Amino acid sequence: MKLLVVEDEPKTANFLKRGFSEAGFVTDVAPDGVEALSLIQARPFDLIVLDLMLPGMDGLRVLTWLRESGFQAPVVILTARESVEDRVTGLELGADDYLVKPFAFAELLARVRTILRRPPLREPATLRVGDLELDLAAHRATRAGQRLDLTTREFALLSLLVRKAGEVLTRTMIAQSVWDMHFSGDTNVVDVSVRRLRGKLDDPFPQKLLRTVRGVGYVLESPE
Ligand code: CA
Repeated sequence: MKLLVVEDEPKTANFLKRGFSEAGFVTDVAPDGVEALSLIQARPFDLIVLDLMLPGMDGLRVLTWLRESGFQAPVVILTARESVEDRVTGLELGADDYLVKPFAFAELLARVRTILRRPPLREPATLRVGDLELDLAAHRATRAGQRLDLTTREFALLSLLVRKAGEVLTRTMIAQSVWDMHFSGDTNVVDVSVRRLRGKLDDPFPQKLLRTVRGVGYVLESPE
């Protein structure tokens, strides 16, 4: 997971970078809005932590620019401005969360993790991999136009695999994301669920989408 911290105060920026890095995130820092936008255009980020009071282009203008240009990753505003109007403005402009300074890093980290776990709000209603089609709003999956009869859990598992199509997901990642809990090594439940899903998703069809990566986990991808 890659984060961008937009913060002009070097001490806070370093503190955030260190904290997020220790928590396992790859973290870049931009000291102002212009630098932030050029970094965001140059490489993908999974989440932006955005200060509002920045030199030059302020945080709300950065946020407006991002959302107007179709940038979809979540944005968490971190700022000393604490008025209700500021919060409402930030959220209306497309921020996903808002935390007022001074803040506890543990809280920021918890919020960032929560946001990254939930599916993006602005994703398209239908996702496709090969002839598999997932209608997220209707909770319906079809292959080659044929309806797959999935349980709620199987649908959640398939949604995760489709959203991360082409990426190998470890059993632990799947367990945390679909069951929302921390498994201490026992990810057998994941294998059982994947096997059931595969029975419905792949077994009836000549082309297989779900592949086991030995010793690592699973990946869903179109065979072409
Ligand atoms: Ca600032």
